[in-house]
Amino acid sequence: MSKPKKNFGQNFLIDQIVLGRIIDALSLVNGEQVLEIGCGKGALTERMLMKGINLKGVEIDRDLIEGLDLIKLKHKNFDVLNQDILKVNLKDISDSKLRIVGNLPYNISSKIILWSVKNKDMIRDVHFMLQKEFGERLTSGPNKKSYGRLSIFTQLFFKVEVLFDVSSESFFPKPKVDSIFLKLRPQNNKDIENLDIECLQNITLKAFTKRRKKISSCLKEYLSKEDLKKINIDPDLRPENLSIADYISITRYIQN
Ligand code: SAM
Repeated sequence: MSKPKKNFGQNFLIDQIVLGRIIDALSLVNGEQVLEIGCGKGALTERMLMKGINLKGVEIDRDLIEGLDLIKLKHKNFDVLNQDILKVNLKDISDSKLRIVGNLPYNISSKIILWSVKNKDMIRDVHFMLQKEFGERLTSGPNKKSYGRLSIFTQLFFKVEVLFDVSSESFFPKPKVDSIFLKLRPQNNKDIENLDIECLQNITLKAFTKRRKKISSCLKEYLSKEDLKKINIDPDLRPENLSIADYISITRYIQN
């Protein structure tokens, strides 16, 4: 069996109690469609299959596919794709909405969150194991260091719920940091109806790349101090002081 690969973020779950807690949190129902990101050696995969779900796994590491193929022989309700999840469009692999589960490779967590936003219309819910600090960025609010673009985009499209913390001792090899298990549920957010998402992406990029500057200075190519005052935003605030609603107001002001 090959050694765990750092470049694929391979920290395998070995703690049976944590695996059991994950299964309980998922409340899987016989026959439902689930996609697992990064099956690894199948610790979570096999436990989920025992609930009678239809499971599709996506695993990038060819060296792990042989082991997963053995699981496939035992379970007709399992299939695995040897692919990079970031290149998968959920519409191409399923006709109906999926539940997504993954003990994520931490090095590409941001990309997988943005992938989830892109695929949100095909998602019923998402359960991810993430590096704790990263998870805090997803749930963070204004005036905190951890607040940024990722907080804004995740919370605009998903309702985020922290389920439980997981110690680094639960993995092999043991990562340097603790983890967090959380749930994301796509939400129909009226605030984003007809909102120019690309504009919001550009504005938040400008703002949070220079988060120590005043918002008026970060966004000077888009709007003046007077414009900001018109929408009740103090031009002297720093990007991290603005709420998600403020960023929506700025986007609407620019797009109209
Ligand atoms: N699910 C297993 C477990 O809990 O023990 C493995 C989790 S390990 C943290 C992350 C897994 O994701 C690894 O098996 C790794 O090879 C896989 N992986 C890494 N990058 C990936 C990608 N872009 N697409 C699909 N799988 C990926």
